[in-house]
Amino acid sequence: MIPAYFRSATARLAASYLAIIVVLSLSFSIVLYRTLSYEWNRLQIQPRYSIDQSPDRDLFEEFLEQRANDDRHAVIARLFLLNFLVFIAGAIVSQYLAKRTLQPIEETMEIQSRFTSDASHELRTPLTAIRAKNEVALRKPKLSAQDAKKVIKSNLDEVIKLQKLSDGLLMLSNGRRTKLEIKSVFINELANEAMNQVIEQAQAKDIEIEDSVPKLKVRADPTSTVQILTILLDNAIKYSNPKSKILLEGQKKGNVGLIAVIDAGMGIKPVDLPHIFERFYRADSSRSRKGIDGNGLGLAIAKNLVELQNGEITVKSRYGKGSNFSIKLPLADS
Ligand code: ADP
Repeated sequence: MIPAYFRSATARLAASYLAIIVVLSLSFSIVLYRTLSYEWNRLQIQPRYSIDQSPDRDLFEEFLEQRANDDRHAVIARLFLLNFLVFIAGAIVSQYLAKRTLQPIEETMEIQSRFTSDASHELRTPLTAIRAKNEVALRKPKLSAQDAKKVIKSNLDEVIKLQKLSDGLLMLSNGRRTKLEIKSVFINELANEAMNQVIEQAQAKDIEIEDSVPKLKVRADPTSTVQILTILLDNAIKYSNPKSKILLEGQKKGNVGLIAVIDAGMGIKPVDLPHIFERFYRADSSRSRKGIDGNGLGLAIAKNLVELQNGEITVKSRYGKGSNFSIKLPLADS
């Protein structure tokens, strides 16, 4: 049974690094030893060619040979010690390097796996609802046309949720690859388009949207900007009480055009504020409210699209009082 550590990617990478260090160290030792051996042999061979073969000469040769052997043993012992030390230091360095190499990969994998598990969780809720409704309907011996319609209507609602979720997931996964067409556009025209997209929802809750965005030219991708504003307006409507008012404002600030969606709705708690742009994050206060649908992807998509346009999205909110989401986009040269 191999312990878990040795099966881990870090251990395998560390072993590869260590193998390279050990091979280099051994090769260096072998080359060094061979060079030294060559030099010793040369020193020993030279006197044998001498014509003067006196007994002193023999003794001297013996002495040289003895010293060469001693040196050889000493060098071998030192090379062993050196390689041992290189092995120990190499193991520590390899472990450190392997950890550093794999850390960003592990972090990415962790994000990926959290994303997959959140997505599966969000998929399961509507699927469970569809299954339960259909099973209950099938168990009834007789189903009136009215009941059948109710089941179909509920299934359709869940299918719409699933479709929104899959669209959102697709948008987030394509995010970085989205090719934007950034050009000079009038932000008030885009705001108008976004308002048209949510007008029915607003009317259903008797919410008035007051649009006072001035004629400002910004550098932006029109489709994405309309999408961002639609997400913000859609949220403002969702999280506001019926018969309330939403303000859509705009202004020039330095070299950016600022556009804000201000509502007087339920607001966001300070603990939730730093997280609302994360994928799948939904404040408990909005999750627990009946009739507020959502999957926690809207603001993540909005942030992604704003940043792709070199813009910025910010939020100010007071719980129970309302929220102010604003986006900044670079002004176009007029
Ligand atoms: P969701 O589909 O849940 O609306 P979002 O990503 O659009 O997902 O928003 C994330 C969370 O931020 C929401 O669940 C809600 O808790 C909070 N939120 C967003 N906009 C508002 C708003 N205008 N007023 C209050 N809370 C909001």
